[in-house]
Amino acid sequence: MPCRISSRQGFFFMKKISIAIHGGAGTILRSNMTQEIEQNYVRSLNDAVTSGWNVLTDGGSALDAVTETVRSLEDDPLFNAGRGSVFTSDATHEMDAAVMDGLTKNAGAVSLVSKVRNPVLLARLIMENTDHIFLCGAAAEKFAEEHGIVPESDEYFFTQARFDQLQKAKSKAGIILDHSDDKQLGTVGAVALDSNGNLAAATSTGGMTNKWPGRVGDSAIIGAGTYADNDTCAVSCTGHGEYFMRAVTAYEVSALMKLKGLSLEGSAWFAIHESLAKLGGKGGLIAVDRLGNVAMPFNSEGMYRACFTSGMDEPLIAIFEN
Ligand code: ASP
Repeated sequence: MPCRISSRQGFFFMKKISIAIHGGAGTILRSNMTQEIEQNYVRSLNDAVTSGWNVLTDGGSALDAVTETVRSLEDDPLFNAGRGSVFTSDATHEMDAAVMDGLTKNAGAVSLVSKVRNPVLLARLIMENTDHIFLCGAAAEKFAEEHGIVPESDEYFFTQARFDQLQKAKSKAGIILDHSDDKQLGTVGAVALDSNGNLAAATSTGGMTNKWPGRVGDSAIIGAGTYADNDTCAVSCTGHGEYFMRAVTAYEVSALMKLKGLSLEGSAWFAIHESLAKLGGKGGLIAVDRLGNVAMPFNSEGMYRACFTSGMDEPLIAIFEN
């Protein structure tokens, strides 16, 4: 349904636009949440979703909207991506990110980088400047430097909360999903539909606390943690990555729409509450379809999330079930 929105040039008619974002899923307990912490998250989510929304209302592409939104979340130390990335068991950082364009179904992905301030920008660079999709580790960092991305110091990625989280995980001899202890931190993602009917998705993460060095999660794997197809939907996942890889969650949402004719909501619900849950996986996803519908299901206690679609006066921001 076309809608009339204001622009700097006056009024014009455009198709529905939508954006949804997440800041991670996990054991986010109300009992651990002070009003101040909650307000900080709400403010960050509001700023991020509004920055993507502004790209879309200015007539920008879904690809630019998701890239810009994830970039801003990577710079926010509250979230487990870019600056606020969690530590590996060696007390290092290894970040993963991906971006996918639903129009061309082209994609870019990067993993195991430790010096790149905005892994999502590197993923986009790989998508647009190489014949490849996925670069890892030292070679990805070399490619970044050759394309003018200045390496960040280890100090930039150090946050005390993350370091404390690592000590806690080590004492329990386990790996920790972003939100599975009392520190409220999380992976980030964005999906969008632009006024030309194009969809895009982007995801970025530091992974899981105390993960083995060299471990790659779902976020950067096209079809597992990130997927976009103009015929169906754009999807970004968050949660225990090993399960999302086994369930090929992001692609499953698209496939259920394409092959079974399910709605976005039905497909997203099935992927999380049936397929992922059956394997024992915890987490959630955000998805938007070509009509601008948004779905944000999760089977964990909470998921930091927000969306803004045509017809809404302000973004919807939520953390818990209701
Ligand atoms: N999915 C991410 C990973 O497994 C973690 C997260 O979403 O919190 O690396």
